[in-house]
Amino acid sequence: MSDTRTLVVSHAEVQRLLPMADCIDLMGETLATLTRGDALLPLRTIIRLPDGKNLFAAMPAVLGESIGAKVITVFPGNEGTPYESHIGVVLYFEPQHGRLQAIIDASSVTAIRTAAVSGLATRLMAREDASELAILGSGVQAMTHLEAVLCVRPITQVRVWSRHQQNAVTFAEQAHKRFGVPVESTPTAEAAVRGAHVICTTTSAREPILLGDWLAPGAHINAVGASQRTTRELDTAAVQRARLIVDRRESAMAESGDFLIPLNDGDITTEHIRGELGDVVLGRVPGREHPEQVTIFKSLGLAVEDIASARFIYERARSSGDGTWLEIGGLR
Ligand code: NDP
Repeated sequence: MSDTRTLVVSHAEVQRLLPMADCIDLMGETLATLTRGDALLPLRTIIRLPDGKNLFAAMPAVLGESIGAKVITVFPGNEGTPYESHIGVVLYFEPQHGRLQAIIDASSVTAIRTAAVSGLATRLMAREDASELAILGSGVQAMTHLEAVLCVRPITQVRVWSRHQQNAVTFAEQAHKRFGVPVESTPTAEAAVRGAHVICTTTSAREPILLGDWLAPGAHINAVGASQRTTRELDTAAVQRARLIVDRRESAMAESGDFLIPLNDGDITTEHIRGELGDVVLGRVPGREHPEQVTIFKSLGLAVEDIASARFIYERARSSGDGTWLEIGGLR
């Protein structure tokens, strides 16, 4: 019998169906597939809304046989409201007849898959003995990044800084309660970063909040927050002194202020990008060359990560009975 039903999966269901540890492995397979060339991934389309602050983004991709797109609004100004900064859906289609199989909450997918990619980068690039973690920012990505790094390194001390210190204090309390690891809030970003082995930058800052001068030898940075060509979280010195791996070369060349601002100032060259994370997964380039090297993984976020997550969630929901089936249409 022909089936036109579509599975709708909510935020809470995604959190159950996409465990961080599984998602880290899934992102490894996904980025390797992308780097091998078995994906169609145009640059995302971003519309800046008339208010000048907020964005509407469409991110389509084909990954192997999976077809899909993430469609979201990005409202950084949602802080202090009950709403997340990234809201929308991931649409997942099957390849035989092009049916829409799932509509999945995008906030939760984005929160988990972004941190999972950073977890993967940390696994492949950070020192094996990394035990001190600094997190800059205290929002949604900060919390999932803590979870991801705890999955891959023996972290015993976490320091968190946020622009509004009370947010860092609240984060530290919640994170300690949730994960059991000691989490301390610091009054400055420098105090969090000095001596840290792994640093995650997860802010909506438009100007650098992390300076290269603060970095200890051997530090690994997951640079996550800045995703436009005019904004950055890292200063030029941080980028200059590090081995730089990106999620995707073409995206970094078009969208990453962390890379493009020093490039356009003549402070680095395009060769500064040593490879994609998929190259590291495939063993084509090393993530780290020696224990004292500073490494950066620059994350922009890719639609293939959303589509792979959607496929995983859809398959799991079908066996667990999660989700709500809707008759949407599509038959002649
Ligand atoms: P949240 O709104 O939950 O948190 C934003 C954080 O940024 C808060 O901790 C806030 O600090 C801080 N912040 C905001 N403005 C500034 C500023 N000018 N200087 C310093 N800190 C600032 O957002 P998310 O956690 O969902 O996302 C964080 C960032 O990551 C965003 O820029 C987002 O676009 C990006 N992102 C990247 C993805 C990727 O794939 N690479 C995917 C998803 C998000 P406080 O509250 O103390 O003011």
